[in-house]
This record gives sequence, C-alpha cells and structure tokens, in this order.
Amino acid sequence: MARKLSGKCFCGAVHYEVADEFVYAANCHCSNCRRTTGSAFKPFAGIERDKFALAEGHHGLIHFGDDSGHDAHCSRCGSLLYSLVRDGAYVHVAMGTLVDDPTIRPTAHIFVSSKAPWFTIADDLPQYEGHVVSAPE
Ligand SMILES: [Zn+2]
Ligand SMILES: [Zn+2]
Repeated sequence: MARKLSGKCFCGAVHYEVADEFVYAANCHCSNCRRTTGSAFKPFAGIERDKFALAEGHHGLIHFGDDSGHDAHCSRCGSLLYSLVRDGAYVHVAMGTLVDDPTIRPTAHIFVSSKAPWFTIADDLPQYEGHVVSAPE
C-alpha cells in the first residue's frame, strides 16, 4: 500500500488524500500559474487521477474550466488545490496545499520565458523556456 499524503485549503473546508507516488514535479512560471496562486511560480506535482481523492467538502469546489481540464478552488476561501490536466487523466496538485511532506521534489523550472521580472531563480535546477522537452541526466 502506498503511503497517503493529506492536503487541504486555507480555510479547511476541503481536504484531499493523494498517494505518495507523484510521477513528476516542477515549478511553473507561466502567467496562468502565477495568477491562480498570486505567487512568483507554482510548485506542482503530477499523478494519475485515480490516486487522488477528495476526503470531504468536494461540493465546496469551484471548477474553472471543463471536464477535460480545470483548476479546482475551494469555493469558500479560493485556494487553488489542484488542476485536472491531460484530458482528465492526471491531477496536478498545488504542492503548497499539501499537509504532509511528499517524497518527490520539484526537478525543474518550466515556462521560464514567462517568469516574473522581479523574481530571480536562485537554485541550480534546470530551467526550460516551456515544457520540459527532455529529462535531465
Ligand atoms: Zn477553503
Ligand atoms: Zn503554469
């Protein structure tokens, strides 16, 4: 059995559980991720949809988008909890909403071409103009 991680929104109305089996994780600097989080970038971790489950409060979610892809926010406090992506096959968990420490760590900065000019990347992770095109060695 995979270890389970829990996560929640700012106000606590929405809780989720996700297996500690993320397939990838990155820091996205695109303008959409900056706006939905209000931050310089969004650290997110991707996993198959069936390994993610809302524990309670899922009627309290706002979906921005449609069935094939959307951002899910708490309808009470507005926290961005996750995004449904890749035609609904994967979930991108907004890592800032995790309560427990996942095994995975972000391995790259992506969409650096859209980076906020006031933010300086100060770590040694590889940087990509857009999506990761090839995995680093
Ligand atoms: Zn909330
Ligand atoms: Zn993004």
